[in-house]
Amino acid sequence: MNDRLRLAVPNKGRLVEPTLQLLHDAGLVFESTDRSLVARVRNFDLDILFVRTNDVIEFVRDAVADLGVTGIDLLCESGVDLPRVRPLGYGQCRLTIAVPADSPYQSVDELSGLRVATAHPNTTRSYFAAQSVPVEVIPISGAVEVAPRLGLAEAIVDLVSSGSTMILNGLRPIGDVLPSEAVLVANPEAREGRATELAAIETMLSAVIAARDKKYLMMNAPSVKLDELQALLPGLSGPSVIPLAHDGMIAIHSVVGADEVWGLLPRLKGAGASGILVLPIEKIVQ
Ligand code: AMP
Repeated sequence: MNDRLRLAVPNKGRLVEPTLQLLHDAGLVFESTDRSLVARVRNFDLDILFVRTNDVIEFVRDAVADLGVTGIDLLCESGVDLPRVRPLGYGQCRLTIAVPADSPYQSVDELSGLRVATAHPNTTRSYFAAQSVPVEVIPISGAVEVAPRLGLAEAIVDLVSSGSTMILNGLRPIGDVLPSEAVLVANPEAREGRATELAAIETMLSAVIAARDKKYLMMNAPSVKLDELQALLPGLSGPSVIPLAHDGMIAIHSVVGADEVWGLLPRLKGAGASGILVLPIEKIVQ
């Protein structure tokens, strides 16, 4: 009996590289070559199945895999109701409604009675139905952004991340349908029956994701400056304060948001800190 857990991940497209990075960062040791369908993880009872991004959901639904990595947009479009274990913090994008830049339409309501081309027809239909704006949804599978120029539709619903590609294509966004990012999904029976093993994987991945947007700060300071420095440093549960051999001096260690570091450094220096080190954090388990 093969009782290794199975995780389905995309084998092509944008989610491949960040997914492999996450699994490697989590400490899973496996070889992934383009040709292999299955990679055996050497240090965990887990097999990784490389499948088309669109097929991940069916693999998990049909219990061919216990877990899967896919996009929220694809999950919504599939209509398959799989438990979402956790968002993964990459593959961020949104389904956006856009019209040609020179068209007269400014709002979603104005699209009533018009045609909307998209590769996400189910999500688009539900969105416009919920807005009570009747439109004709034109399903197309690629090059959605050229549909208005080809005379196929007056508007489109397409995935964007920054939105700049849409603008380069002469389109103007007028509303958002759905925010999306990569998500870890589970087969419902596996979630019940193999809860402990699934929780172990979730903890592994969560520890990496939690650490990604944090930095570890270490600095020395005169002990009289502690209050002032502490006010600048929240940390996970407040900073650690360690006495130094040099009388009247302390070391302060703290975890801060990676985005805050550059703003914090001059303020810490100004408040008396010296020898400040900024270190990456590999994992955080809380
Ligand atoms: P792909 O296989 O490259 O077509 O994309 C698969 C998934 O990547 C999409 O379904 C989204 O969940 C995600 N994604 C992230 N950013 C973008 C983007 N800018 N455009 C399209 N898809 C994106």
